Amino acid sequence: MKIGIMAAMPEEIYTISSDMTFDKIEKHAQRKYYFGMYQDIELISVYSRCGKVSAASTATTLIERYHVDYIIFTGVAGAVDPNLLIGDIVLADACYQHDMDGTPLFPKFEIPLTGYSILRLDLKEITIAKHAIRNFIVNINDYIPTATLQQFMQIPPKLNIGTIATGDQFIKNPLHHDTLKYEGHHVLAVEMEGAAVAQVCMDHAIPYVLIRTISDKADHSAHVDFPSFIENIASHYSSGIIREFLKCFCARTS
Ligand code: SAH
Repeated sequence: MKIGIMAAMPEEIYTISSDMTFDKIEKHAQRKYYFGMYQDIELISVYSRCGKVSAASTATTLIERYHVDYIIFTGVAGAVDPNLLIGDIVLADACYQHDMDGTPLFPKFEIPLTGYSILRLDLKEITIAKHAIRNFIVNINDYIPTATLQQFMQIPPKLNIGTIATGDQFIKNPLHHDTLKYEGHHVLAVEMEGAAVAQVCMDHAIPYVLIRTISDKADHSAHVDFPSFIENIASHYSSGIIREFLKCFCARTS
C-alpha cells in the first residue's frame, strides 16, 4: 500500500516530513517528493503549491509516476459557514469547483464533458478520517501546546463534515460567499485545491480524503488571520491529523 500525502504549502507539510522517517527525496516537475514508511505503508509526501492546476499536476504525478493507491490532502481553508471558527476542522463528503462556469454550453459548476459538478467522496474513507480527526481533537495537546492554541482559537476545535468549494481565488470578501455557493447547497469552506485533486482521483479511481482546518473566515480579516495561523498552527495540525489517520488506517486494514 502506498499513500500520497498532499498539502498546498510547505508550512502545511514540513512537520510531517520532519516528524516521520522520510529517507529519500526526489525532484520531479518542480516538486519535491519525500519518501517514507509508516509500519508497512509506503508514504510519499509533497506540497503542490496553491491552486487547481498545481494540485492536479502533483496528484497526477503521485498516481502515474509513483503509483500511490490512496491520496490524503490536508491544509487550511476559509470558512463560508458562519458557525465555523478558526481552528475547526472540515472533512469533505463532497466538493466542487466554484469557478467552473461553462454557461450557456454547460450548466454552471459542471465540469464540461463529464456530466458532473459535485464530486462525492467515499463513505468508507470518510468514516476512517472521521475517527482519526476525533482522535486528533482528543489528543490535540500532544501535538500543540495549549498556550499556543489559546492564542489562535477556541479549544477543543469542532469537526464538521460537508461540502468544500474549490477555486483559483483567495476569498476575502463575505459578499462573494453567496456567489460561490452551489445552488441549494450548504457549503462549509472554501479553498484552492481540493476539488481539483478529487477530479484526478476520480479519473483514476483512487480513494481520496480531503481534510481542511479553518485558518480564516474568508472575509476582510482573512489576510491577517491566514498567515499567522499558517505559521503557528497549520503544520502541527496537518502532522497530527496525518498521524492519527495512519493509526486508524492501519487498525482498519490489519
Ligand atoms: N502563498 C500565499 C497565498 C496562499 S493562498 C500566501 O502565503 O499568502 C491560500 C491557501 O490556503 C490555498 O492553498 C487555499 O487552499 C487555502 N485557503 C485558506 N483560506 C482561503 C480562502 N479564504 N480562500 C481561498 N483559499 C484559502
